Amino acid sequence: MAIKYAKRMEKMGASEIRELLKLTARPEIISFAGGLPAPELFPVEAMKEVSKKVLEEGGQKALQYSTTEGFLPLREKIVERMKKFDINAQPDDILMLSGSQQGLDFAGRIFLNPGDVVVCESPSYLGAINAFKAYECNFVEVDTDDHGMVMEDLERKLAETPEAKMIYVIPDFQNPTGKTWSVQRRKELVEIANKYDLPIVEDNPYGELRFEGEIPPSVKAFDTEDRVIFLGTFSKTFAPGMRLGWVYAPHEILERFIFVKQAADLQTSTISQMEINKFMEMYDFDAHVEKIKEVYGKRRDLMINTMKENFPEEITFTYPEGGLFTWVQLPEALNAKEMMVKALEKQVAYVPGGSFFPNGGRENAFRLNYSNMPDEKIVEGIKRLAEVIKEELGK
Ligand code: PMP
Repeated sequence: MAIKYAKRMEKMGASEIRELLKLTARPEIISFAGGLPAPELFPVEAMKEVSKKVLEEGGQKALQYSTTEGFLPLREKIVERMKKFDINAQPDDILMLSGSQQGLDFAGRIFLNPGDVVVCESPSYLGAINAFKAYECNFVEVDTDDHGMVMEDLERKLAETPEAKMIYVIPDFQNPTGKTWSVQRRKELVEIANKYDLPIVEDNPYGELRFEGEIPPSVKAFDTEDRVIFLGTFSKTFAPGMRLGWVYAPHEILERFIFVKQAADLQTSTISQMEINKFMEMYDFDAHVEKIKEVYGKRRDLMINTMKENFPEEITFTYPEGGLFTWVQLPEALNAKEMMVKALEKQVAYVPGGSFFPNGGRENAFRLNYSNMPDEKIVEGIKRLAEVIKEELGK
């Protein structure tokens, strides 16, 4: 057969790394590779009650088609929750999505022509890179430091990239590095986007999961010219299986998201929306988030402390104040992709860093997830990784 596929498919497809990561699903592997929440924290018993209530009170409505924009009582609750990020929205400014991943795909559909450039942090979220790639774009990566994107580098690159069409950032507990942007950088980002007249996609799945300190204002909070699109999700504060996210965007842009949503899948699952809304009415959602933060905060400490005790001195890693990930930097000479084969022999896994750089070429780092493995596996897995690293360094 000589089936002719769309040109965009040339940029997509199984990567070497995805093949490697398939192995991490084996039960004997201690995997720090996925970005999965802790399943033992899913409120399964409560959801049995919630589902029953939703079906008893409005079963026919829950199982019927509903509006594209989404279930109004839920959008009202989201408006309240977004105040944590210094966001003052109206329910009508929000469109419910089937996960925030869908918002990334839609942003690509709305803004990108083939050859346009997405400006992103270096490194950035692999799922966003893949979503945007489907629209045949190119990427310009901007340097990052401990305070976020380096603004001088952003300015310089925007000045020399007339094809730049959209800026994509994850300012809170970034995937993959776990880093958080300073307030100053957030302000400056908006100022620079104003100057170059570009939309900003602010992706914030982890912001609520802050273990210490205060939640900083979002980039959206500094939006003076209606150019920031904010993506939120219940995947990390509740459960990813619900597939519930949202986009909060300026009216004109939101209208486009609504058109695209209609064309893509009509609406987000009615029953999912009604269930999470009912959960929030019957239970204390903030208390639930607190419980998640407590468990993940302890796991973060355990992972960081075990790395401090066992990793050779020259290995550095980030200290995330929240979220799910830390980022480990290896000496220049080591290659995390090659090292993964040895890690898998010792039955421990991570995601090699190269995949998070859309333009490739940086292999001496990897991402670790600390939310999904129980305490004893975190300690054991990090000790095994330390052995692998020491062997690679000839120690
Ligand atoms: N953005 C980032 C930065 C993520 O890490 C993820 C999931 N890991 C998503 C978006 C998508 O999440 P979801 O579709 O489950 O809301």
